[in-house]
Amino acid sequence: MSFDAPPFAPAGGVVPRVPISFELYPPRTSAPAEALHETIQQLAAVAPRFISVTYGAGGSVGGRSLDVLRYIRAHTAVEPLAHLTCVGNTYAGASRLIREFLDAGILSFLALRGDPPLDESEPFLGDLESSAQLVQLIDRAQAERAPYEERPIPGVPGAVQVTPRKRVSIAVAAYPNGHPRSTYRHQDVEALLAKQAAGATLAITQLFFHPDDYFAFVERARRAGVTIPILPGIMPITSPARLRRVLELSGEELPAELSIALEVEPTVEGRTEIGIARAAALIRELVDGGAPGIHLYAFNQHRTVLAVLEDAGILPSTADRVRGAH
Ligand code: FAD
Repeated sequence: MSFDAPPFAPAGGVVPRVPISFELYPPRTSAPAEALHETIQQLAAVAPRFISVTYGAGGSVGGRSLDVLRYIRAHTAVEPLAHLTCVGNTYAGASRLIREFLDAGILSFLALRGDPPLDESEPFLGDLESSAQLVQLIDRAQAERAPYEERPIPGVPGAVQVTPRKRVSIAVAAYPNGHPRSTYRHQDVEALLAKQAAGATLAITQLFFHPDDYFAFVERARRAGVTIPILPGIMPITSPARLRRVLELSGEELPAELSIALEVEPTVEGRTEIGIARAAALIRELVDGGAPGIHLYAFNQHRTVLAVLEDAGILPSTADRVRGAH
């Protein structure tokens, strides 16, 4: 995944006004995957630079992540990006896992430390202690593979075409308002600098509620020597329950105005509209202020995030998209 690459134009020719990307999570059970596949197809149709799939968060397991990534690779033209974490991994185990993803043709990663399980107070990390170490391990696993790929030449039995392997791209997480466990204000910029030095080529931020949180962080990071693109991560918040949950996970401060608006609105439709309008307004300010693109936490549902992008003027309206496809 190169975030600087021009977008491809899928059938129907939708080109977003700025680069966009989406995050999905693997299903928690082996329930039929049709709904998720439909969501992937709908998201792929608006030409995102990549679709990322979480790993291990909320109890999901790696095999299910890989299934979703394989589906994206086989059935869409979009780059699949695999989240990987350090949790519980030995060097040997992590290397094996990375090779499995590489063998499946996954070349884009988001290297994360991961969080301890909610019910455990034991040490949760294995040999790998930080995402910067995982970045280096992914890079090494790729370097240890044969530098060339062989593909059969159709119609010429026994003949192969030899091409150089594509390099992996490794993204990392960034925290505009600080990681909940960081001990001092600039620790997160230093952590990002270390991840860049380890080989990361893109940062994706934790959610935040005010554009200034992002711009101030980017400025601090640039001053400290961070040069990689810092992609703002946006989450449409469409219910008080979701708001509570994300505040718990991210350690962000309660955005009082949004919280009150969601609490007093009696209907689901009304709350969804509030969440969409709020996320769209944030995106407009980020794009006007020069953000290099927009990453949306999609919660495995396409309608809300596509509505946000339409409202923000990043995508043409659904009616125009449908007309363009014919
Ligand atoms: P690191 O980069 O290793 O460190 C994180 C921060 O912790 C640093 O910024 C620093 O401020 C602080 N820190 C580092 N070392 C220390 C130390 N020794 N003492 C105190 N503080 C320290 N989790 C999942 O399990 N699965 C996912 O798929 C997933 N996807 C995510 C996607 C995004 C975009 C983001 C932002 C987060 C995601 N997470 C996921 C959550 C992430 O794993 C946690 O936030 C985790 O606590 C930190 O991971 P990291 O890679 O940023 O860690």
